[in-house]
Amino acid sequence: PPLALAPGDLLARRDRTFASVQEHYFDEPPVIVRGWKQYLIDADARVYLDVLNNVTAIGHAHPRLASVVARQLRTLNTNSRFNYPAVVEFSERLTALLPDDLDTVFLVNSGSEAVELALRLARAATDREGVLAMREAYHGWTGLADAVSTSIADNPQALATRPGWVHTVESPNSYRGTHRGAEASVYGLEAAAEVHRLAAEGTPVGAVIAETFYGNAGGIPLPDGYLEAVYAAVREHGGVAIADEVQVGYGRLGEWFWGFEQQGVVPDIVAVAKAMGNGHPLGAVVTTRAIADRFRTQGYFFSSAGGSPVSCVVGLTVLDVLRDERLQENATIVGAHLARRLRELGDRHPLVGAVHGSGLYLGLEFVRDRDTLEPATEETEAICERLRELGVIVQPTSDRQCVLKIKPPLCLTVADADAFVDRLDEVLTSGW
Ligand code: PMP
Repeated sequence: PPLALAPGDLLARRDRTFASVQEHYFDEPPVIVRGWKQYLIDADARVYLDVLNNVTAIGHAHPRLASVVARQLRTLNTNSRFNYPAVVEFSERLTALLPDDLDTVFLVNSGSEAVELALRLARAATDREGVLAMREAYHGWTGLADAVSTSIADNPQALATRPGWVHTVESPNSYRGTHRGAEASVYGLEAAAEVHRLAAEGTPVGAVIAETFYGNAGGIPLPDGYLEAVYAAVREHGGVAIADEVQVGYGRLGEWFWGFEQQGVVPDIVAVAKAMGNGHPLGAVVTTRAIADRFRTQGYFFSSAGGSPVSCVVGLTVLDVLRDERLQENATIVGAHLARRLRELGDRHPLVGAVHGSGLYLGLEFVRDRDTLEPATEETEAICERLRELGVIVQPTSDRQCVLKIKPPLCLTVADADAFVDRLDEVLTSGW
């Protein structure tokens, strides 16, 4: 039967057969049929500015990526037990992007798989189960990754239902955490104290896992020295540090390719995904040879599609395009312009509480009151709906769903940034 392109019809069919554990975006979502660079196009040929899709870092429907994938599919696609160049070249390219000790690569198919494997590696390396996780974090949906996901936006029962081996610490959210206004070091000291307490009780953690720039909370940088303090405490008791770079790594932050660089630390295990495949299922764990060898004696790893020739040429091409089109630099320049313009909105619109973030990972937090920071949750949802009517696709994040998460393809231009802010200004001025 012909595809029903009327948005309502398609939505009804979708709801009948497609599991709706995760809601779709918008009350009346348009039928999206094409993507091009930083734009999405619906079935009526309406063009939307895509301020949401961080996965498509090099832009939608990139012709260079499409042609190398087509060529590779016509020549070879098989599993990584075979000896072919692409898996070697891609692994070498990845390790070259990381500090020297992080020299061993596992290739998987998603961020959840990367985090899952990272936690398995940590268990193998330390013979310990315990993990320190941050509150208000999301790390994936598979068993271990879900266990360390504490965000109540994704699962309202998250904190009450963590297994005993997951130990959570206060969200290092310097905008609205319990230590708001305190010295940055307070956050790290408190988390380190929890690590020492667990060790003194005879249950030292085997690992700490954290986003290296607080993406899920709305692109909030971790307080200065935070990871340094937490990593040091965990290592003092023989544990290892896992960096979740799934959202924030790969150049999006502009100034830094990896979020951990902003904190001046080097993790033992790095989980990567999303941008590295530009939408193709691709993830990686990069760690030290010693940790990988420990795992080899205790665990088993094989991924049928992980590291396939197609996945590897996708990974290589994404890196080539990031370099050739200078997209990290673009994130710095356009991101700084966009952040400046968003901050200016705050001069005229009291709903604007703060502009978080770096490069093209920004968070615009809406509050009803700048002193109490009462989250403007319903307003944020309504603003997203109104922006969609005006041709901009953007969505809320954080446990309070009051932060516009601004993480567009990295080819966003200054003109796009201005168009977005102008429309947002209009919505904030004339109502939503
Ligand atoms: N870690 C972080 C920080 C994420 O944001 C996500 C996805 N939102 C994941 C892990 C899981 O990645 P995936 O959806 O590719 O499984």
